[in-house]
Amino acid sequence: MVLDGVAIAAEIKAEVKKEVEALAVKGIKPGLAVILVGEDPASQIYVRSKVKTCGELGIASTMITPDASISTEELLKIVDSLNANDEVDGILIQLPLPKQVDTKRLLEAVRPEKDVDGFHPVNVGRLQTGKGGLAPCTPAGIIEILKRTKLPIAGQHAVVVGRSDIVGKPAAMMLLNESATVTVCHSKTKDLAAETLRADILVAAIGRPGFITEAMVKPGAVLIDVGINRMEDAADVELYFPGNTARAEGFAKRGYTVIGDIDPRAFAKASAYTPVPGGVGALTIAMLMQNTLTAARLRRALA
Ligand code: NDP
Repeated sequence: MVLDGVAIAAEIKAEVKKEVEALAVKGIKPGLAVILVGEDPASQIYVRSKVKTCGELGIASTMITPDASISTEELLKIVDSLNANDEVDGILIQLPLPKQVDTKRLLEAVRPEKDVDGFHPVNVGRLQTGKGGLAPCTPAGIIEILKRTKLPIAGQHAVVVGRSDIVGKPAAMMLLNESATVTVCHSKTKDLAAETLRADILVAAIGRPGFITEAMVKPGAVLIDVGINRMEDAADVELYFPGNTARAEGFAKRGYTVIGDIDPRAFAKASAYTPVPGGVGALTIAMLMQNTLTAARLRRALA
């Protein structure tokens, strides 16, 4: 079964839109402020897409676009003013930031109630203690995919490959909070295949194209592929997507194709899997919208 992230994201966005409309009756309009430093083309695309989705759902959005040379102190002043602005419910600092900026200090300066990325230590702690709050968008999307497809989590053996603060660790914590038995793997794991072969739910958040091979997958497993990697070699595209004309055509047009961290040839062995693109990645913005709505409600004690 293909787990259709695009359809699930559309469902979540429709629900958020409805709730935003209900808040409008009470004179409340949730607002998101996005700080985009410099002119990184990929970040610009992500931010534009976030702002556009806000508009579609009735969420107010502001974009602050300081020059790439901005200092940490100047950025802290921007964050402080957004923290104090009553019209701003969510503050998102688009990463990565330029080298001279102290990213950690900046993320910690965001008021936890407005931290719609869920990166602030207070929200990390809340996730750890299972106390709600604002959870990171990509791992929250994984849980939505599993729940909305009615795939069991409780009692399942979930193996998460990757332990980043943004994806791997929070994904593991959320799966644990849903009563899965969780194993977290990383680059120092001794026998990775032995671990992944025990996974009922296998989450790959590594950043290496097609790294999880068919031989590493237990038959009938649920495969959640978080990876987003560019494949730019025609021979690789033919190898990983044999006979896939849509891929070949897309590659011929753009000069690359996007592949996850799981070898697509392993999907046949799974009971369900998220495709790349159109899987986990599709959920991230929907979950950001959901978090902005949650932040608006929490701040007004409506949740
Ligand atoms: P990081 O680079 O921060 O983390 C990668 C993790 O993979 C690390 O924990 C690392 O281990 C582990 N790893 C690397 N090599 C191996 C190996 N050989 N065996 C086992 N583990 C290994 O990446 P992110 O978590 O930020 O992102 C992971 C992927 O997800 C990327 O492709 C990224 O593009 C994608 N992504 C997608 C999002 C979306 O869908 N919206 C959002 C965020 C990320 P160690 O800690 O030991 O170094």
